[in-house]
Amino acid sequence: MLLAALVLLSPLAQPPAPAPVIQPPPKAGLSAPAKPGPKAGGPARSTTTIKGLVEPHLALSPISGAPVRVALTFDACSGKTDRRILDTLVENRIPATLFATARWLKRNPEVVAILKAHPDLFEVENHGAMHVPAVDKPGLIYGIASAGSTEAVDAEVKGGADALAAAGFAPPRWFRGATARYTTSAMETVGTLGYRVAGFSLNGDDGASVSAATAEKRIAAAKDGSVIIAHINQPDRTAGAGVARGILKLKARGVTFVRLADAAEEAGARTGH
Ligand SMILES: [Zn+2]
Repeated sequence: MLLAALVLLSPLAQPPAPAPVIQPPPKAGLSAPAKPGPKAGGPARSTTTIKGLVEPHLALSPISGAPVRVALTFDACSGKTDRRILDTLVENRIPATLFATARWLKRNPEVVAILKAHPDLFEVENHGAMHVPAVDKPGLIYGIASAGSTEAVDAEVKGGADALAAAGFAPPRWFRGATARYTTSAMETVGTLGYRVAGFSLNGDDGASVSAATAEKRIAAAKDGSVIIAHINQPDRTAGAGVARGILKLKARGVTFVRLADAAEEAGARTGH
């Protein structure tokens, strides 16, 4: 059996802590409109863009001699479902990890039923309650208001987990906050709640903002160990068509698709904080 392993490269996992990753904005979670954070503990709103946030990198460890392995992760931030992507996964029996918010679960009961009907394909993890960035100081990330306090980060994470439980999914083990950026202290809060922070290594769609051709090209170019992020909640944008085509190109290459749960199973010691 080929053992999979995850490499979590973040300031929490790398001694000594490097400078926060500040790269050209990939707009990882930009596909949902801004919403105020939860009321619990939220300090006064700030319109200042928060700088110096961490964008954790997550990749699968290469296995010598093994087939190329890729993890597809899709954020379901809010709104609807991109059936171009979902149907491609189901029809081709391609496993994937979804990060769903409580808001999205509530609005997509028919898709929740599809996901639950295919437990061999879909792992559903925690994308928070209201799609509020897990950042514990007030301000904006890509124009989205942060949670703004530890209490609000806590509420966002717990609210997402509660919604997954109410929908009948297995308890989540991974959390990815809206925008996929964090303060180190918020990442510690997430860890204290029992979750690993799900980074990524390949941004497939910049929050469903890229063209179909760009999304297809990016995803088709995945390397061994890539953890791909894309969005499955923007059926009205063109990016999703390219995401679906890119997935099929990976399949044609003979790539092995793994879910984060499958990969993390054997790697607890390596990824734990
Ligand atoms: Zn999102």
